[in-house]
Amino acid sequence: DAKERGHDRIALVDGDRRDETLRRLQLVDALHHAVARGELRLEYQAVVELDSGRVVGAEALVRWQRPFEPPLGPSEFIPVAEETGLIAPVGAWVLDEALHQVVAWERARPAAAPLRVLVNVSARQLDSGDFVETVAGLLASAGARPEQLCLEVTEGVLQQQPDHTRTVLRDLRALGVGIAIDDFGTGYSSLAEFRDLPIDAVKIDRRLVAGVEHDRRDAAVVSAAVRLARDLDLEPHAEGVETVAQQHRVHELGCALAQGYLLHRPAPPEELLPLLAPDPTHRP
Ligand code: C2E
Ligand code: MG
Ligand code: MG
Ligand code: MG
Repeated sequence: DAKERGHDRIALVDGDRRDETLRRLQLVDALHHAVARGELRLEYQAVVELDSGRVVGAEALVRWQRPFEPPLGPSEFIPVAEETGLIAPVGAWVLDEALHQVVAWERARPAAAPLRVLVNVSARQLDSGDFVETVAGLLASAGARPEQLCLEVTEGVLQQQPDHTRTVLRDLRALGVGIAIDDFGTGYSSLAEFRDLPIDAVKIDRRLVAGVEHDRRDAAVVSAAVRLARDLDLEPHAEGVETVAQQHRVHELGCALAQGYLLHRPAPPEELLPLLAPDPTHRP
């Protein structure tokens, strides 16, 4: 009877795997149409300058609203998009949408300080061969200045393809687009490895930020990363700030910019508008 149960278990595993494969195929098929059907949307998380409390930027985070289904977060479909090549149309849609949004915010709040939109890009996008032309074309058609865009690339991507990536990043910087290292501190690289890359900001991963209050070693890593970033003229930026104590600590350690649920959660674009600057039509 142990054998029978063994059989049952195998059948169960196979059934699970079949369901999983089917689910994945359906997801890929649906994702094919998601852009054309207008099912993707962006939320934006404000980037706060800690000295002044001003919102100086917003990170675009993609969501997929399928009909009659709960929305999916990027972790649930970006990896699939990367594996299937669908990241090219999805990524281009995200860039186009985010650039139009930053221009719209600026028009609605002309008195606001210059605002940057931060857009996550995958290795596959950087590798596509025409990424720089794509970005240049999208900037022009949205009427955005290159300085209004900052592309976020994870530490892992920079470690994997240094040669090709270097050229692409240099061309993007030459256009005037900003480049940030995302999720820094989760891999085993040192910022020193990136000193020749044309990068202007470093985003310290929220897993490290989470430890700054209580874990001496996390605080030491953050402190060293921030100091090195500043010495290399990179803007240190803390991700995932959830408590007042974390905010104070990262500020104290030298992070100029921060994002996190404590400050602002990701939200639809209209919710960011009031954070940017006083409404010019509103007279007290
Ligand atoms: P990321 O770029 O590191 O973005 C930060 C993630 O942390 C976001 O999750 C955000 O909602 C979440 N977050 C922000 N503040 C806090 C906080 O205080 N606490 C906690 N626990 N989480 C916080 P989200 O939106 O689920 O995005 C996950 C990842 O998906 C992003 O990580 C990014 O790597 C990727 N992603 C999102 N949008 C895009 C996109 O358009 N293209 C590509 N290629 N990747 C994207
Ligand atoms: Mg990011
Ligand atoms: Mg990050
Ligand atoms: Mg992340």
